Amino acid sequence: MRFLRYYLVWLLLGGLLASSLLAADQSLWKAGTARAVITPTEPLWMAGYASRTNPADGKVMELWIKVLALEDSRGHRAIVLTGDLLGFPQSIYQHICAALKEKFALAPDQILLSATHTHCGPVLRGALLDIYPLDQNQVALIDKYSTELETKIVATVGKALADLAPARVAAGQGAAGFAVNRRNNPEPDVPKLINQGALKGPVDHTVPVLAVYLPDGKLKAVLFGYACHNTVMDFYKWSGDYAGFAQLALEKSHPDATAMFFMGCGADQNPQPRRKLELAERFGNMLAAAVEEALLSTPHTLAPELRTTIEMVTLHLGPPPTESDLERLATDKILFVRRWALRLLADLKAGKPSISTYPLPLQAWQFGGQQLLITLGGEPVVDWSLKFKEEFGPQTWVAGYCNDVMNYIPTLRVLKADVPPGDQGHGGYEGAQATIVYGMPAFHWAEDVEELVNAGARRAVAAVQAQAK
Ligand SMILES: [Zn+2]
Repeated sequence: MRFLRYYLVWLLLGGLLASSLLAADQSLWKAGTARAVITPTEPLWMAGYASRTNPADGKVMELWIKVLALEDSRGHRAIVLTGDLLGFPQSIYQHICAALKEKFALAPDQILLSATHTHCGPVLRGALLDIYPLDQNQVALIDKYSTELETKIVATVGKALADLAPARVAAGQGAAGFAVNRRNNPEPDVPKLINQGALKGPVDHTVPVLAVYLPDGKLKAVLFGYACHNTVMDFYKWSGDYAGFAQLALEKSHPDATAMFFMGCGADQNPQPRRKLELAERFGNMLAAAVEEALLSTPHTLAPELRTTIEMVTLHLGPPPTESDLERLATDKILFVRRWALRLLADLKAGKPSISTYPLPLQAWQFGGQQLLITLGGEPVVDWSLKFKEEFGPQTWVAGYCNDVMNYIPTLRVLKADVPPGDQGHGGYEGAQATIVYGMPAFHWAEDVEELVNAGARRAVAAVQAQAK
């Protein structure tokens, strides 16, 4: 009889334990990770600088794609993919979205492709047409590599989804100070200005950190960002640059974890000083230390609730160049301006239709009913992250270089300060010349760019907040 009573008590306790474990399980996220090397094995042209004269001739580290898949307690899923690439061009983004929809039923609001903007990665199909001197052989190699990359991305997302298992997700923040506003501080003067504490212009030195832990407390993944061009190096070796070194450092100190970097709004920010490999490693270590500091400061646990939304914001291009503009610029002193003008002249003469608008992908994700992540396509200047944090609150992270990198995204302040080549006055890259670098049929975005992006962000944030109610 006594035995039976004990037995019943044990049964009851066992039942309670099992149900509390189940409840604990239901209160967790699921997370999965996967990765693949994407270092080109053939001598491909390198992305980002117009001045390169030959393809890559070696590597200092592998280039990677890494995927973090997340699933909340309702079964809502999303994937973050980071890649050591300059940016995903529109056609590659569209191919990947179509494949992920077909294979895994993921919609574009659930897909975040983030490029680290290393300028020591390969040129991709359909990107920055006019700035590289590519022959037919290079074009074919780039095309083949891009197709293989698309296949690899879809397969790696599949592996991350297959790896989904209970996890805890937390948010933290650190800081690192090596980003310098490149519009306000001429590069040769920067060492002197640093010594004098006289650097000028807006910066965002925060390091957002999303930490994913296994139920036993081990770090499974860490996604971290920084708003600064990933351009310490301009040489001929494949490299993830400072962001690559930061990931290597974190994966050394957390051997079971996948470390992933996303670019913030760093379009007008450069790492300074630069052009020495030891500086790329040094900045990588500074960033890794900021992430470690955030991890040690007990990141805030996020409830397993994920809301995702996407807006395709229709941006307007400024007035197209006239035939006489193009004829004038066809003899410009800058080679890629000549190539751009000649290509547009040929299109004009052939009666080829031109675009006057462009769909900018803008996402708002909300983790645990509180942590907001806003993503922008293109290369957004730092104003965007400062503005959005002010408007949407301190628990806002802003990522740039996401999904489709088609041009810089200036605010009106930057747009109005810059003038196209050939005009009176001094140029200015982010607001004007970059539009030509990206091969767009205009000198810059129209002046409603800031208004349209703001309105898109407000719609996206309102949409995730409404879902959360
Ligand atoms: Zn850039």
